[in-house]
Amino acid sequence: MTQPQHYDAVIVGAGPAGCCAALRMVDLGYRVALVERSPFPRPRFGESLSPGIWNILDYIGVAPAVAKAGFLRDLPARVCWETAEPQLILPGQRGSGLMVDRARFDTLLLDAARARGVSLFQPASVIRLDCGDGHWRLDIRHGANECLLQTRLVFEATGRAARSTRQCYPVGAETLALSTLAVGTDLPIETCIEAQADGWIWGAPHPSGGFRIQAFMGPATLREPDVRDLSTRLRALLVRSQLFKALAEARFDEPVRACRATAYINRDAWQPGRIQLGEAAFAIDPLSSSGVEKAMRFTLQAVIAANTLLKDAGAATMARDFYQDRLLQAAATHAVWTRNYYAKASIDQDRPFWQARTLPLSNSSDASEYGLIARFHTAYAARERYEAKKLTFDVNAEPVTDADIAAIWRICHDKKYQQKNQ
Ligand SMILES: Cc1cc2nc3c(=O)[nH]c(=O)nc-3n(C[C@H](O)[C@H](O)[C@H](O)COP(=O)(O)OP(=O)(O)OC[C@H]3O[C@@H](n4cnc5c(N)ncnc54)[C@H](O)[C@@H]3O)c2cc1C
Repeated sequence: MTQPQHYDAVIVGAGPAGCCAALRMVDLGYRVALVERSPFPRPRFGESLSPGIWNILDYIGVAPAVAKAGFLRDLPARVCWETAEPQLILPGQRGSGLMVDRARFDTLLLDAARARGVSLFQPASVIRLDCGDGHWRLDIRHGANECLLQTRLVFEATGRAARSTRQCYPVGAETLALSTLAVGTDLPIETCIEAQADGWIWGAPHPSGGFRIQAFMGPATLREPDVRDLSTRLRALLVRSQLFKALAEARFDEPVRACRATAYINRDAWQPGRIQLGEAAFAIDPLSSSGVEKAMRFTLQAVIAANTLLKDAGAATMARDFYQDRLLQAAATHAVWTRNYYAKASIDQDRPFWQARTLPLSNSSDASEYGLIARFHTAYAARERYEAKKLTFDVNAEPVTDADIAAIWRICHDKKYQQKNQ
């Protein structure tokens, strides 16, 4: 083992959250190392990026490189959700989103971090992590070598897969996703979204060719006795749909992959000196296609907390509270938005899939749960009340009359009144 290498922050995981933290931390003048276990490029879920991604990319200085990368912008959408008849939504009606190839998108972010001076260990894995004297020591295996990194802060941006079931508190119904890439001729040229009896399907043209398909369902759908393999299951869902029917016979260029897509918050997101970022901290329902945006936006907020902590160890409580508040607000706001959007689907809402997503979130924590989980439920209830008020607010409840206008006019032109109130 060589001499320790010293950093202000070591970030484990180089997805959008890890790279975003690395870029922001070097801009703030810190010495930063990034440890990523997979060689890049590597595939990833989450390729449809919401319009809000642009101001984040701009802020961390990668927007021009992303704009030049040949990803797909401004796709129109064909949607069967609020009506059984497909609705066409033009790009101008929902902002300029982006359909990326995550293998290339993540590599682009990583290259930018390296170019700005972040030390990269890839492929590398952490063998041991311990803390002493206010510093963290990470033994890492980097290729054939072992190195020792010493740091003041550890960021964990290892994504959804690295979370244990104990850590994840679900804030949405259990959701599974099937994903593949269809290839061939006559593929749709727009994003397609369709609500079905027991789930929903999303698809979009892929920048590297083909058409990405993802179907979302509850676990019961995958447990059905007639399911022989994932490909047959996915084709059975496609054939029953309006927008995806023609794709049921298409060739799949990748094996159909299944993964969990349940929304959660990580009970241990903040530990002293060890901070979770992106999907390591919380995950949202994929319905809004804004997971990457949320992961990066929250990372920027987490870096504010980390910067406060590194500058003034006495402000640790303030930094933690800021971090946790941002996390809970983001998770609660999204959980309420998701519920309301599921409730708009013109589908039999008594089916178990739809019921589980449209009823208010129940508090499934036990009596020993306090702190973060209790605060999440308070934030969720507050957001529910806020949204309900917005829905029921009647703009004509207090109509403005001619007499009101005359009174306002008099006030505006009354010199004495104005002098008195200056
Ligand atoms: C089915 C599905 C569909 C989705 N669709 C969308 C969508 O359309 N739009 C959208 O915006 N979002 C979508 N998302 C969400 C999106 O995938 C995530 O929000 C995003 O990838 C989170 O980024 P991240 O950096 O936190 O984690 P990740 O992208 O998962 O990156 C984590 C990185 O950490 C590395 N790593 C893991 N463990 C270790 C370790 N021990 N040591 C070193 N490195 C490690 C991994 O190799 C990886 O590179 C979807 C998610 C799912 C599950």
